[in-house]
Amino acid sequence: MVRKWSRDRDERQPKAILFINEPTITLSKWTKSYQFAKSPKTIIEYASKATDEINYYVPAGAIEKLTKTQVNKYKKQKWNNFDDYKESLKIWKVTLPNNPSLWKKGSCNCSSFFKEFACKHVIGLAIRLKYCTPPPAAKDVKIGEKRKRGRPKKATKALLTK
Ligand SMILES: [Zn+2]
Repeated sequence: MVRKWSRDRDERQPKAILFINEPTITLSKWTKSYQFAKSPKTIIEYASKATDEINYYVPAGAIEKLTKTQVNKYKKQKWNNFDDYKESLKIWKVTLPNNPSLWKKGSCNCSSFFKEFACKHVIGLAIRLKYCTPPPAAKDVKIGEKRKRGRPKKATKALLTK
């Protein structure tokens, strides 16, 4: 009995550690990520041979299109002129492990990721790739609109009215 209990407990251990490492995703972040996933942005992917990861290049801000030429320049970090350099600031690089269940270990070089260890680029990509599903409430804000502060409208309200 005691042996079984200790074994069960040991099995639970790795999960507990994993949980601590994972960032908490707020509803507002899910909403932004869902909108990002649904946006018509071009995303260019390159598998990394050295590590078991895939790099995704995402156009930043309001930019929707991205070309392979732009991404190649960005990867080399070699610019011919200042305009080229400025172009490179319009790209975010998202790295996801080549394993759907580990998407939360992904990273991005944008400022919100540095601050919060989670950003709409990583989560949005995971949504686009169907690695995760956002909570239904994240979808009830019109694309392009921001979630209003406070509690989201209860979707169950409609179900209760006869
Ligand atoms: Zn990001």
